[in-house]
This record gives sequence, C-alpha cells and structure tokens, in this order.
Amino acid sequence: MSADSSATLAERTWQTSRCQVLFVPLGSTEQHGPHLPLGTDATVAQAVARDLTARSIRAGSDAAAAPVLGYGASGEHEAFAGTISIGTAVLTTVLVEIGRSAGRWAPRLVFVNGHGGNVDAVRAAVRILRDESRDVGWLACAAPPLDDVAPDAHAGRTETSLMLHLAPGLVRTSRVAAGQTRPLREILPDLQRAGLAGVSANGVLGDPAGASADEGAMLLTAMCDRAWSRMPAGDPV
Ligand SMILES: [Zn+2]
Repeated sequence: MSADSSATLAERTWQTSRCQVLFVPLGSTEQHGPHLPLGTDATVAQAVARDLTARSIRAGSDAAAAPVLGYGASGEHEAFAGTISIGTAVLTTVLVEIGRSAGRWAPRLVFVNGHGGNVDAVRAAVRILRDESRDVGWLACAAPPLDDVAPDAHAGRTETSLMLHLAPGLVRTSRVAAGQTRPLREILPDLQRAGLAGVSANGVLGDPAGASADEGAMLLTAMCDRAWSRMPAGDPV
C-alpha cells in the first residue's frame, strides 16, 4: 500500500486524504492504577480503529484512521495525578466540530470509543451530527466476558491483558495489584459521590491477576469482531 492510500490519515496528503469512511479513535488521559499507563484507553481505541480500517479496506471501501483524541471526560479520576479531563460538555463540542470538519471530505465518520466516561458526549455529538443529516456513528471498544465473568471496570484483568498484548513495555508488572473488587453496581453510589479515589486507593476496579498477552490478543480480536458486526456492508451504524 502506498503512502497515498495509507490506512493512517496522518500519513496521507491533502490531495489523497478523501476517503469513504473515517474512523476516529477516542481515548482519555487517565490514571489506570499503578501498573498501566495513562494512555491505556487511547492505545486500545487506536488499535481497534486500525483493525476496523483494515477490515473496511479489505471489504472494498477506502478507509482511514484519524489521529486518536487523547483527552476525554475523566472527572471521576481527577484525584489521581496525571489525569487530564476536558469534561462532557467540551468533549461533545470537540466531537461535533470534528464531525463537521471531516464531513467536508469524508462522507462517513465513525467514532471508536475506548473510554466509558466519554459515552454521554459521544451519544450527544452523534445525535447533533445526525440531525444535520451527516452519516456519523459510533462503536464501543467493548470486551467480552472472561470465563463468564463480566470485564473489569477499570485497569483490571481485561485492560491489563490488552496492554500486555499491545504495549508490553508499558505494563509495570511488578506493581500489578488488585483494587476494589466489589461489583460496580454496589460501589456506584460511592463512586459517583466521591470519585474513583473514594472506592479504590490504587485506582484499580477489579483484579489484574491472570492477565496475559495471549488473553489480550484474544480480547482485542473479539472486541474488533463485535464492533465490525455492528457495521455490516458499510451500512450506517
Ligand atoms: Zn481504561
């Protein structure tokens, strides 16, 4: 593949950037416990966006992955250093403007969201853009259950496995430790009142024990399969 038909938008030029589908990965800059980097959600979203771009190209459409948006809505993590949140209102505006601007040359845009805290903004932005008659949708980077257990809410086994697969050098294996392991529904009131620091001293919700790179590869494939199944034959999502 030449640079002019690169799957990575940033590698194209203005003369070759028009494409049928643009995937825009959305991450966060947010604490992920003592062992995972702040850019974990961005790394995962980028990997899923790249995979979906490759599948779209194989299916015959000219697709590209835009640069990842590394800031999101992470207010509940702000007690932990390193977190930078732009909040739901600003994120909504940013996404709407990305949609309007890219919509001048990319007829179809799909946000690929890697951070749960961004969902309200993504939904609101997609609603606004669709009301303007744009072909815009979004997909979640949603991991399947492991051994019939729902994925960890934050920096637990699921995200640790994904990062061991995608960026093993950034996983501080000597600092892996369990965090708050009670079910999310039980801790939700405290989390909403006091933020994540109110329910987990080390910033982890779940237990990374058992995580592995092989499991991460399997989870990533399942995540991409699931996202891809939501946009069959290039229909609007
Ligand atoms: Zn995360």
